[in-house]
Amino acid sequence: MSSSPVIQLEQIVKSYELAGDRLDVLKGVNLKIDSNEYVALTGPSGSGKSTLMNILGCLDSPSEGNYLLAGDDVSGLTEDELAAARNQRIGFIFQSFNLLPRMSALDNVAQPLVFRGLGRKDRLKIAQAALERVGLGDRVDHLPNQLSGGQRQRVAVARALAGEPSILLADEPTGNLDSKTTESIMALFDELHNQGQTIIIVTHEPEIAAHCRREIVLRDGEIVKDVTKEPGHVL
Ligand code: ADP
Ligand code: MG
Repeated sequence: MSSSPVIQLEQIVKSYELAGDRLDVLKGVNLKIDSNEYVALTGPSGSGKSTLMNILGCLDSPSEGNYLLAGDDVSGLTEDELAAARNQRIGFIFQSFNLLPRMSALDNVAQPLVFRGLGRKDRLKIAQAALERVGLGDRVDHLPNQLSGGQRQRVAVARALAGEPSILLADEPTGNLDSKTTESIMALFDELHNQGQTIIIVTHEPEIAAHCRREIVLRDGEIVKDVTKEPGHVL
């Protein structure tokens, strides 16, 4: 099993109907990503990056094609089945953090673990460990608005990690952060990669893409470039 890819996309098409016209946003994407890959997904605005990430993250289904996630075909699932696959396998991080404002850092991280069927005590224990992993062991009782932007994104990373996801997906995770904070978040992703995590990051910043081992470029819904570099080599 370990030799099969974590992600396998076959001829993925995503289209929308707009005023009677069909808009093809993804036009037959084929992609394989192995365990512990560290991937940057880049490309111009509107090229389909978020659409692709939402499909990878089981937030959305393709119009056509097959998606094998850790060997399971998730392309034809019902919404409930898709949500179950998401809760079991995916950690998602967004540009806007998406934390619940009235919950402490600890509760924000613990909350999604409800879907795991864990009791509150176990959830809090796992959440505490996840916050320690991202360097926020001393901020567990803080509310989001009592934390800096970088700390909020760390909470979001901890929340994504708490469920021990097969893949960590981050859609422009540093888009709201200054350059120093961006560096520290990227150092955190580097560390998670070194610990074995599979990571895919959407970015349009070349310095961020340079952190990653593989760069995939989307243009008009198609992969136009896919390069893997040797460790230590900058693209
Ligand atoms: P990116 O993340 O690369 O900027 P997106 O994946 O967000 O690009 O969008 C790709 C294209 O799909 C854009 O032209 C966008 O307008 C269109 N699109 C995205 N979501 C929808 C939707 N729900 N309905 C119609 N068009 C959409
Ligand atoms: Mg986007």
